[in-house]
Amino acid sequence: MSKAVIALHGGAGALSRQTMSAEKERDYRRALDAITRSGQAILADGGSALDAVTEAVRLLEECPLFNAGIGAVFTHQGAYELDASIMDGRSRAAGAVCGVRHIRNPILAARAVMEYSPHVMFTGEGAEQSAFNRGLARVENDFFSTPERYQQLQRALAADSGALLDHDGAAASTDPIDPDRKLGTVGAVACDSQGNLAAATSTAGMTNKQAGRVGDSPIIGAGCYVDNATVAVSCTGSGEMFIRTAAANEVAALVAYAGLTREQAAARVIFDQILPLGGSGGLIAVDVAGHVALPFSSEGMYRAVGYVGQAPDVGIYR
Ligand code: ASP
Repeated sequence: MSKAVIALHGGAGALSRQTMSAEKERDYRRALDAITRSGQAILADGGSALDAVTEAVRLLEECPLFNAGIGAVFTHQGAYELDASIMDGRSRAAGAVCGVRHIRNPILAARAVMEYSPHVMFTGEGAEQSAFNRGLARVENDFFSTPERYQQLQRALAADSGALLDHDGAAASTDPIDPDRKLGTVGAVACDSQGNLAAATSTAGMTNKQAGRVGDSPIIGAGCYVDNATVAVSCTGSGEMFIRTAAANEVAALVAYAGLTREQAAARVIFDQILPLGGSGGLIAVDVAGHVALPFSSEGMYRAVGYVGQAPDVGIYR
C-alpha cells in the first residue's frame, strides 16, 4: 500500500507585505484546507488519484480566490480564456483544453478529452463543442468575473499605457500574495492507496495577456505531467519559461535518467533552469511512495499537502 496523499497549489507570486489582512489570509488558508480535505476524503474511500485531483481542481476553479474558473484574470481585451490539463500516471493518458470561454469547469473538459477522445488537446470552439456534447455546463464569459480582477486589469492597462502602476501592491490588495504580481494557476497532484499517480492544472493565464496567448498550464510536459514510474507534477509561474524548459517533463526525466529524488529534480528545474531564463514560480510533485516536493522561487506560493488520516498542512510563505 502506498501512502495516499494529495498536494495542491493555488498560484505563486510576490507578497503584499504592507497590506495583507489577517482576514484575507484566513480565507486562503480555509479554502486550501477545505479543498485538500475533499481530495483526502476521496483517497480515504479508496478513490483514485485521478478522481482526487479532478475534484480538487474543480473546487479550486469554483473558488473566486484563485485564478482559474470563477475569479479568472482578464485578457488584455477584457475577456476570459481558460486552459486546463489532466494526466493519469497509470497509462499516461492525457487531456487538455485551451482558450475556452464558456465551459464552467475546464478541468472537467480536459478530463472528458482524456476519457472520450483519441486526441489529447482541443482549442477554442472545438474544445467547447465537444465539452457541451458531453453534457458539461455552459456559462456566459462574464460568469467568471469578479470586481477584484476587473480592477487588476485596469491597473495593468494603466501600466501598459505608461500611467502609474505601483507594483509594490500597497494600494491594491489585502491578499497575502500581491494579485498584480501573482502568477496564478491552480493544480493538484496525488498518489492513491494503489500507488497510482495523477496530476491536474487549470488557469486563466496571466492578467492582461493577449487574446490567443497560451501558457504552460494546458501543455502536457510543461505545466502538467505524470508517469507512475517517476513522479506527478503540476506547475505555476511564468508560463513561457515553463514551456521552454518542458518543466514538468524535465522533473520526471531527472528522476528517471539522472537518478535524482523528486525533491532534487523539482528544485533543479525551478532554480537552475527556469530562474536563469528570468522565469519564476513553483511546482508541486509527488512520487509513488507519497513523497511530496513543493519548491518555488517566488516569495510565496499558496499550497497544501494532505496525507490520508492527517490534518492538511497549508502554506503561503517560505
Ligand atoms: N503558468 C500560467 C500561464 O503562464 C500562469 C500561472 O501559473 O500563473 O498561463
